[in-house]
Amino acid sequence: MVGSVLEFTVSNARLSDGSLYDFVFSGGLISRAGALGLRGDLDADGMLIHPGFVNIHTHLDKADLLSRMRPEQFGRSLEENRELLKSFKRDYSEQEIMQRAGNVLDEMIAQGCTAVRTQVDVDPTAGLAAVKALSKLRSLYKGLVELELCAFPQEGVLSGEKRELMEQALESGCDLVGGLPLVEKSDEERKRHIDVLFEIAKSHGKMLEVQIDESNNPSDFMLPYLAEKTISEGYEGKVTATHCISLARIDDATAARTIERMQKAKMSVIITPSANMITRFPETAGRPGNSITRVKELLAAGINVAVGTDNIRDIFYPLGNCSMLRELHVLASATRMTGAGDFDALFQMASVNGARLMGLDYGVEAGRKADLIICNGASARESLNGFPYVPYVIKDGRVVAETGVSADVSKD
Ligand SMILES: [Zn+2]
Repeated sequence: MVGSVLEFTVSNARLSDGSLYDFVFSGGLISRAGALGLRGDLDADGMLIHPGFVNIHTHLDKADLLSRMRPEQFGRSLEENRELLKSFKRDYSEQEIMQRAGNVLDEMIAQGCTAVRTQVDVDPTAGLAAVKALSKLRSLYKGLVELELCAFPQEGVLSGEKRELMEQALESGCDLVGGLPLVEKSDEERKRHIDVLFEIAKSHGKMLEVQIDESNNPSDFMLPYLAEKTISEGYEGKVTATHCISLARIDDATAARTIERMQKAKMSVIITPSANMITRFPETAGRPGNSITRVKELLAAGINVAVGTDNIRDIFYPLGNCSMLRELHVLASATRMTGAGDFDALFQMASVNGARLMGLDYGVEAGRKADLIICNGASARESLNGFPYVPYVIKDGRVVAETGVSADVSKD
């Protein structure tokens, strides 16, 4: 079903507070919302209507590389994986990246994502091939999904060439600066990596999203440095820390002190639940502890916490079906977020909180963007417990996916 571009109506949709609303969409926005007594183009049948899912952290350029790997290449060490990735990248073509990334983006839309931020590898091996491919994909999917590109230095930023490539990526369409201190060799170099990210971000006026402390090794703890640097650079409100696994592994007093500094730095946090749960680099000895960060404490401190799928079926993570419902299931279980209000908070993290990072005005009130999902359940809890699919996905006020399948909507 493809709604009228001019105006589309939905009736009998349930808000998270239980009330039933009707909606009129026009010009890509919610133009009216309330008990309007109208018969909608679409009857939501009392199911939950919610701002669309925002997959705030994924790697579309690498997505589905698993389909090109041989079974003996699965589950290797981090070092071997990085070398394998380089061998794929040497053969990258824009068309091949667009095909893999486009197929996975279709899956994300069908599962309720109305906005996606993807990391894009920028390094001497691939150059700007992935940036060019995903920029084209963004134009192709205009009106179907908001796509944001984060320049990601998979091989580091410490040489002049690597830094230059990051600058070029920002001038070629990347929206923000990504980071990966772990790729550098020593703590000193990891700090320098963070310093360079700030220099690049500030000179281009861009926000920063840094993958940090993801090795599930508590001594890998760069988060305090990132928070202090954010404050000393006057970059409050512009920095996001993704993963932050070590925060869950260190003692409570250090964690509380760190969260206080993150609060002062107005940092956001991104969690990628499924990928985080299997994080245990082979070179880290011992039984893995909890690899999901301290979500409840961060939320209690007023920190914006958002959710992404991270890698989808690639060298670093062999699973992934693009379902944000699946991610929330894992997150609820890992964090024991099963109390009153927790299910609504989980849905917020997977939608409105991510939208905030992308500068999108998400909500169910008149005037907000008409990017919404109608769920398979009358509440967040029911939707998580129902058969895991999203019956209707509405982007810019029209239905772009139905019953888990992308609608036949032409790409511009
Ligand atoms: Zn990632």
